[in-house]
Amino acid sequence: MEKILIVDDNNSIRKMLCFHLKKVKYEIFEAKDGAEALKQVRDCIPDVILLDVMMHGMSGFEVCKELRSDPKNSIIYIIMLTAMADSSNKITGLDIGADDYLIKPFEIEELLARIRVGIRSCQDKRHAVIDNLTQIYNRYFFDLHIVKEIKLALRYQRQLSLIMLDIDHFKRVNDNFGHDVGDSVLVELAAILNKYCRKNDIPIRWGGEEFIILLPETSIQGAKKFAERIKQTIETHNFTGAGHQTASFGISRLIDDHIMLIKQADDALYEAKENGRNMVVVAQKE
Ligand code: GH3
Ligand code: MG
Ligand code: MG
Repeated sequence: MEKILIVDDNNSIRKMLCFHLKKVKYEIFEAKDGAEALKQVRDCIPDVILLDVMMHGMSGFEVCKELRSDPKNSIIYIIMLTAMADSSNKITGLDIGADDYLIKPFEIEELLARIRVGIRSCQDKRHAVIDNLTQIYNRYFFDLHIVKEIKLALRYQRQLSLIMLDIDHFKRVNDNFGHDVGDSVLVELAAILNKYCRKNDIPIRWGGEEFIILLPETSIQGAKKFAERIKQTIETHNFTGAGHQTASFGISRLIDDHIMLIKQADDALYEAKENGRNMVVVAQKE
């Protein structure tokens, strides 16, 4: 069921919106201020947010800006609802990252139609950036959002590490057990990555049986520890139909740009393969 988050500090407006939206059988979440909205987004990952602009504490503009600063929230469709009808506010809202802007009072039928647009848009975006098999982000997501993140980290000299991993002898899994079992190994491995990733870490299916994990604000030592833990978990996991499998890991930290970050992790991964597989190799030895 599609999820809608209603953010408004006015109880009666929230109740009224809830009443109409529930008739359409959406799953409804509510937040009475900006802080609660940010928490709800993390917990429920809505498709569409109806965001009031003038609220106590954080304004809708601030909430929108904060949400859009996390690439994971890029697929959420944000409709700002406000009594401020002048175009400069509309422009601010749209430039900050809102997808649509509706002036109160509005016809509920119009809002419902705009929500339907939002749901379509969110579903399209989700299909574009999430890998169909493993349900984690794909390489297009990296190109679209993560390259930007890496540039910002460089500019503000924030630490950032990257893990690249590749399943060992995966071709044998397909050859010995069939392509379907190979697929389910990929799904289970992606689930392991998801489970171990913290809130800000981003696991991505890079291609075939190769994955990367972006670790913002993480030192190379932190990334190494993290990779060792995942390596061990994979090693001991009993993959459905394929039993025990292993993976090799290459790790790099951000020094130059995203191209070097990837290349260095890729070179380290190559070294791990050359040296016997099922191991973690760090690109920059300090
Ligand atoms: P290495 O240890 O050197 O990485 O060996 P490998 O066999 O894992 O690597 P190789 O690149 O030779 O083979 C990768 C295989 O992964 C070949 C390809 O058919 C398979 N593969 C890629 N994508 C998928 C997929 O979506 N599903 C399945 N089942 N197999 C896939
Ligand atoms: Mg492989
Ligand atoms: Mg490979």
